[in-house]
Amino acid sequence: MRIGNKDKIYIFIRDNKKCFYCGKRLNFRQITLDHYLPLSKGGKDEIFNLVTCCKKCNKYKSDVIPDNYKDTIINLFIKAVQDGNILRKNITIDNSTLKDKLLKVNDLEITSEFFIFQSNSMRFYIKDGFVYKIIYVDISN
Ligand SMILES: [Zn+2]
Repeated sequence: MRIGNKDKIYIFIRDNKKCFYCGKRLNFRQITLDHYLPLSKGGKDEIFNLVTCCKKCNKYKSDVIPDNYKDTIINLFIKAVQDGNILRKNITIDNSTLKDKLLKVNDLEITSEFFIFQSNSMRFYIKDGFVYKIIYVDISN
């Protein structure tokens, strides 16, 4: 995903104009975007994997994988869904049904191509902010 200025503004506002790590208030011109799960560890350019970061924290964090990265990315993904920033691609399901289903995700798996978010009944394959594929699963038994 090419992160444009519009995405950068979205992330900045979503993060309350503060560094995600140290909480320092920032001007838009001061910010960097940090890959929460680093690119070198399988992270990708997605709005739910990018956070507002001051230059100091970005330098300090480098390639560390945060302990709670799955929970944080799932929360940022749910926010992106609520904000209407996750769209479908070639999938026949109506938008409001899809949104309801996406809001129920509670697990995450990362492959070389996709972020796969999972709820109790479905797996969603996400790339470049789009839902590319849905798989229905039954993990109740
Ligand atoms: Zn900071």
